[in-house]
Amino acid sequence: MPNLVLLGIQGSGKGTQADLLRKNYGFTHLNVGSLLREQMRNKTEIGNNIEGYMARGDLVPDRYIFTLIDPVLSSKTSGLVLDGFPRTIKQAEYLYQKITVKIAIYFELDDEIAKERLSNRRVCQKCHENYNLLLTNSSFQEKCKKCNSVLETRSDDNKEAINRRIEAFHQQTKPVIKFFSDKQSLIKVNATDKPDIIHHKLVKTLNLTTPAIKKV
Ligand code: AMP
Repeated sequence: MPNLVLLGIQGSGKGTQADLLRKNYGFTHLNVGSLLREQMRNKTEIGNNIEGYMARGDLVPDRYIFTLIDPVLSSKTSGLVLDGFPRTIKQAEYLYQKITVKIAIYFELDDEIAKERLSNRRVCQKCHENYNLLLTNSSFQEKCKKCNSVLETRSDDNKEAINRRIEAFHQQTKPVIKFFSDKQSLIKVNATDKPDIIHHKLVKTLNLTTPAIKKV
């Protein structure tokens, strides 16, 4: 299976698509933001050092990111969906030295729509499932459909941090999009389409015809 890099502004639906590719086609979803939040929850040394960056909406320094993902990239070299990595040119160059990446998918989304989606995102306190209130109907009770726990707003989904994350995307991650485009590896998708439509387009474009056993 190929390795896929998912690029796009926060709120563009990378996590949702990565999860569908995992469930339906057996990819391994590597979500760097989740790895970082896990470090904070477990109060590890890295977790304590990155708290300020995460809360402000700034990118975490590359050295912490490399320490966390190095074991993953050394043990698994195919079938990875990289969600939230690389976000800097240095990370892209690092990735290229580690594994083969022939396809990067860029989820194109307007800043204003991203801001609206992030302010309407809720996350389950317990299992960390994501919900977008813009996509739920009026009877939605703000309880997790998987484990019935309370949903909350992510601490970095506040106005100031959202603006800084969008700024970081334009300044530090846009050059990564050019990096993959220069290597003829870039596929663009319209991130305003509904999640199932985007998933079907990806399956078709990537020629994913032999689904593995479905994962829950
Ligand atoms: P996300 O879960 O993708 O929205 O990321 C949440 C936060 O984690 C970001 O705002 C950054 O502070 C940090 N982060 C995630 N991925 C990276 C990365 N590749 N490089 C640096 N910081 C990151």
